[in-house]
Amino acid sequence: MKPITIRDIKVFVTAPHEINLVVVKVETSEPGLYGLGCATFTWRYKAVVTAIEEYLRPMFIGRSVHDIEDLWQSMMGSSYWRNGPVLNNAISGVDEALWDIKGKLANMPIYSLFGGKCREGIAVYRHADGNSPEEVEEKIHQYMEEGYRYIRCHMGTYGGNFDGTIQKMSHPENAPAGAYYSSRTYMQSVIRLFDRIRSDIGWDLEIMHDIHERLSLADTLSFVKELEQFKPFFIEDALPPEEVHYFEYLRKQTVVPLAMGELFTHPVEWKTLVQNQWIDFIRCHLSDIGGLTPARKLAAFCEQYHVRTAWHGPNDLSPVGMATQMHLDLASPNFGIQEFAGFNEAEEEVFPGCPQVRKGYAYLDDAPGIGVDFDEKAAAKYPPVEMDFSWLFSRLEDGTAVRP
Ligand code: MG
Repeated sequence: MKPITIRDIKVFVTAPHEINLVVVKVETSEPGLYGLGCATFTWRYKAVVTAIEEYLRPMFIGRSVHDIEDLWQSMMGSSYWRNGPVLNNAISGVDEALWDIKGKLANMPIYSLFGGKCREGIAVYRHADGNSPEEVEEKIHQYMEEGYRYIRCHMGTYGGNFDGTIQKMSHPENAPAGAYYSSRTYMQSVIRLFDRIRSDIGWDLEIMHDIHERLSLADTLSFVKELEQFKPFFIEDALPPEEVHYFEYLRKQTVVPLAMGELFTHPVEWKTLVQNQWIDFIRCHLSDIGGLTPARKLAAFCEQYHVRTAWHGPNDLSPVGMATQMHLDLASPNFGIQEFAGFNEAEEEVFPGCPQVRKGYAYLDDAPGIGVDFDEKAAAKYPPVEMDFSWLFSRLEDGTAVRP
């Protein structure tokens, strides 16, 4: 095998969707051969850029591009303390770029390197939100007309802060600013919303909901049991990662399929859940667990326990990252569903070769590697933006700060 080495590692931040995306470009000793990876941790993107430029770049320039596993283990071990989101994202950027290079060298799309396609298209779900049940239903109808059959249904974003909710709350004097929500109002509004969707739209549509770790264990239990009657495809993030052992109680008391994992960064967070079959869908964010190398292993591990994949696919994920996980979707027998937030025109311009969705199924460009390119000149037209952090400062009605 011809020796090919890493000549340079470059990092780009671009915001074609008004969300800062971090893209890594690994250039090689072979003229014109490079790979792209996603390192988007949008809420701390400067820390990821520093980790790559100041640590990974000087350490790994000159190393063989062929040995992805060895490079991944070396990147993970070289900080001694490991498995945090900043360093995992930095590693992911380089890792995915190395897989992109391997595919280009093999002249194959990377799903083919994993054993080939298990299906021709990737079923995706969309997110419908609004300030009233009417608005949510209108969005659902729009998506259904476009051919989507799986829709995650919300009202007033996470925690149910739709019009009027906040004004009805009773805060103590001098309550600090924040994204307030009331657990009871939130639960009641979602139950009413699901009831309405089932009676107005029917039972052919697969519906989901994301609790976003907003509830106490007791509230989660009663809420999920109430939602059983509407037969959701899954309920997501019923509990925070710090309390994954409570999934045992949830599992024993409800038949609702459970999806979990977008906040996971460490293997200990998923091992027990999967081995005990306390969840039905694994939902990690690929760059947050260190890229494609650990995600492939996680998918195979889940397959052994009949846990299906539902990788996290929000807008704070570059099209390179979205396409990367779609290669895994295609090649995993235990694929379940793929979250998809859509691409705007600017993203399509910056990232030629974005996956395309038609009638609820995503299709990849069959080009070698990941199949998505990066137009550096176009990216420069969309420089980093000031992100709105306000929704991350969540508070309960009495002002207690809680996880968002
Ligand atoms: Mg979620």
